[in-house]
Amino acid sequence: MVVVCPLVFVAWQASQGLPLGTLTLGIYVAVAGLLIACEYGLAFDDRWGSTVRGNLTDFLYVGAATATEKATFLLCATLAAGLGRVLGGQLGISLWPSGWNFGVQVVAALLIADVGTYFRHRLFHKVPALWRFHQIHHSMTGLYWIRSAYTHPLEQFAIMLATMFPIALLGAGNAVILVVAFSYGLSGLLQHANVDARSSVLNCIFATPEVHRFHHGANELGNRSNYSAFFVFMDMLFGTYCRPERHEAPHQVGLEGVKAFPGDFLTHLALPFQHDPAGIQLDETWVQSQAELSGAKNP
Ligand SMILES: [Zn+2]
Ligand SMILES: [Zn+2]
Repeated sequence: MVVVCPLVFVAWQASQGLPLGTLTLGIYVAVAGLLIACEYGLAFDDRWGSTVRGNLTDFLYVGAATATEKATFLLCATLAAGLGRVLGGQLGISLWPSGWNFGVQVVAALLIADVGTYFRHRLFHKVPALWRFHQIHHSMTGLYWIRSAYTHPLEQFAIMLATMFPIALLGAGNAVILVVAFSYGLSGLLQHANVDARSSVLNCIFATPEVHRFHHGANELGNRSNYSAFFVFMDMLFGTYCRPERHEAPHQVGLEGVKAFPGDFLTHLALPFQHDPAGIQLDETWVQSQAELSGAKNP
């Protein structure tokens, strides 16, 4: 209801060529109000906190993410779209099915964007230099909706690029790109909400709060499952899908084996570029168990 109804309404508005700015802002405010009420009365875990008790870092991340999204949109709407036009002209074909129904174009764009964001996310877990950025998002020991923006600005740029660049390159119009960016933004808010939402069969279609919560689990499962950002089909296709109904929900979120992590925005900005960042404290018992584990593997 929170994602699909606004998505359909905004897509209809865009298909009529009407402006989206005020409408999308109004929907964000309405959804924010609903999630604030739910975090108050239907919290998944009271210890995680809520948006109304958010700190300065949370709000600075929202400002940075908003600016990054707008800059990336401009880049994609000009550079990627221009490149796509040149490519299409060279090949003599139209790469985007502009004649299709607008709603179908949006679904196609969401599916394509999901491919880009899925591989982007896996890459940020796999490559140590990129994990230095992504660990900031996983350092949260409590989830609430405003923290969907809790991501280093350079990683945020990579996320938005993975979402918008492929569809802009293929020739999707600005209206389609804006609807996709709006849907991802809304889905992100919901995924990180501290709300005890039970999504049942929808967990097999969308990356719901239950699905994404597993990805934040401070355990081995958290680090290797549910990378999807909107639909869960890519996780299913590549064997990384963890269906919530079949596993116990992770009540502890954060980085496995990490006792303390810096919490301020400015420290986070520099953190990925430091070899041995100050302020990260590992759990000694965990370090020892990892050493024993690697000793058993390589005697
Ligand atoms: Zn992740
Ligand atoms: Zn997340």
